[in-house]
Amino acid sequence: MKFCTAIVFLLAYTAPTATAFAPSKRVVGASTSTSHTSLKIVVGDTTEEFEARVEATFERATPVDPTFEDIVKGYFGGAIANQDLVATTARILKAKGYHGDNTLLATSLCCDELARKLEDDFHVLYGNNFNLGGLAGFPFAGKTGFGAMAAHIPDDGYCLVVYGPHVGVASDGTVGKVERSGINLVDTCCGSAVAAAGYVESILSGSQAIHTGLQDFLDFQQQGVQQLILPHAKRLADAEHKMVELPYALYESQDLLLTEIVQDGSTKIKRGLTMLGGIQINTGPDTPDYFVPLKFQRVNYRGEVVDDLLNDLKAKTGNLE
Ligand SMILES: [Zn+2]
Repeated sequence: MKFCTAIVFLLAYTAPTATAFAPSKRVVGASTSTSHTSLKIVVGDTTEEFEARVEATFERATPVDPTFEDIVKGYFGGAIANQDLVATTARILKAKGYHGDNTLLATSLCCDELARKLEDDFHVLYGNNFNLGGLAGFPFAGKTGFGAMAAHIPDDGYCLVVYGPHVGVASDGTVGKVERSGINLVDTCCGSAVAAAGYVESILSGSQAIHTGLQDFLDFQQQGVQQLILPHAKRLADAEHKMVELPYALYESQDLLLTEIVQDGSTKIKRGLTMLGGIQINTGPDTPDYFVPLKFQRVNYRGEVVDDLLNDLKAKTGNLE
């Protein structure tokens, strides 16, 4: 995303949304704007314009249900509603020089359409994202994908990478399931992760032999997910609540991979990159999604962490213990 002018016409949505922000049509760039929507904001990089954009992003956000939020936080301490996460992240990064017109958004999140909600919320501030992710949120685009992404960072600009696994929490508080619009079945979420957990359980019990299957191009991402969480087999077997432990185990594997990918490609990241990693929590249509931030760090072109912002994010969202 690279804007030609300082003025950007941001066109938003008309349909009711299940997420904080789900644009039915959005055009970035004054030369291409064609409005068919009710909301039209002129935004730029002054503090006032940026704040207006942040506020407008969540004008129609799904309101928090305090009872349900307590259930979510009971399982996932430090969970932040998307609205609060995105607005606070953007404000912290703006103070570090990250603006809408000098920052490329990249994500590594699951293929599941529910994982797009978080991207949609960030899109409004940073434009479309470069996708590094695949099944369960693993950064399957790898070093080559990262290199391609880094080449798209605006000159003299920055990159924000949002990454992590996701997990559903159904309205009755069941973890690992979620209601989906138009589907009666309360479905598994994340399906890829739960299937992979079944595989590692069978390896641990000895009922199945390890098979990498990575040459099977009909399903190689899932084979990769299985192998990448295999080191967590005993941890998952011993967990009091496997569906809660599973996303944390996935996160650790994904964070290891992505950190190495970033280190390897750091010389290409221009002025710097920020990693926002954690667990995305998808909920039903009547409640907002949440995110548990586990890493929020700025990295320089040498791959060195220059700023740890996690406690700042927690403090500003009321989650610092
Ligand atoms: Zn998934």
